[in-house]
Amino acid sequence: MTDCLFCKIVQRKLPARIVHEDEKALAFEDVNPQAPLHVLVIPKKHISTSLEAAPDDNELIGHLLRIAAGIARERGFAERGFRLVMNTNPEAGQTVYHIHLHLLGGRKMHWPPG
Ligand code: 5GP
Ligand code: ZN
Repeated sequence: MTDCLFCKIVQRKLPARIVHEDEKALAFEDVNPQAPLHVLVIPKKHISTSLEAAPDDNELIGHLLRIAAGIARERGFAERGFRLVMNTNPEAGQTVYHIHLHLLGGRKMHWPPG
């Protein structure tokens, strides 16, 4: 998608601090971190919200989750814990309409979330 911020990061038209890349996915540091660890894991394929994920995307979505967990483990957050979040649509706070898994860690997380 030409006007999508995260597609532009995938295409290297915008800079990002990339922490993982493979054929299907990209992970990069959030520009406005909400925790000491705040990484966004995205599919290279444009999917605007979790509602648009299709059965064909099952493997891809699972891949995103495993990348996020792997980064958390590598950074030493496996035992302490971390949070994975995918906001969907305005009331949940989605601002970028290209799905992304937030990986947050390094501070006590509150529940219920704000
Ligand atoms: P959402 O609010 O859609 O769940 O999350 C969007 C996230 O993308 C926010 O945490 C925001 O800080 C991050 N973000 C927005 N624009 C950019 C950008 O240009 N680069 C990076 N690295 N993160 C961004
Ligand atoms: Zn996109």
